[in-house]
Amino acid sequence: MGQLTITEDFPKNQAAFDARFNTEEACQAYLFKLRWPDGFVCTQCSDKRHWKSSRGLYICYRCEHQHSVTAGTIMAGTRKPLVAWFKAMWWFTTRKSGVNAINLQDLLGLGSYNTAWRWLQKLRSCTVRQSREKLSG
Ligand SMILES: [Zn+2]
Repeated sequence: MGQLTITEDFPKNQAAFDARFNTEEACQAYLFKLRWPDGFVCTQCSDKRHWKSSRGLYICYRCEHQHSVTAGTIMAGTRKPLVAWFKAMWWFTTRKSGVNAINLQDLLGLGSYNTAWRWLQKLRSCTVRQSREKLSG
């Protein structure tokens, strides 16, 4: 399924995480940087100019191709806030042992156990790639 990359830039502890990923914009900015580390480039025509739609899509100025920062990730097509997904991913990656749907439902205040269960299945199916810290010397 999707791939989740935790970069060196990712917060190291709960407090740092909470302070950073508390808005949709912050989560989007993180995903944007993963997708386009050197700034936006259109996948269709390589143009660098873009604008952002009200729905959070990045639209190429030249060919009008719509890019979503969540495409290809477990968050693709989600109607839930990115903040909730980030929280779930953080929780999942920092507590590898003993995670279950009830914990997740509680963490996110999800209305239904089924939703929590589906999220957990998605999280389990995704590859977490930890980008290595560079070794010096
Ligand atoms: Zn384009």
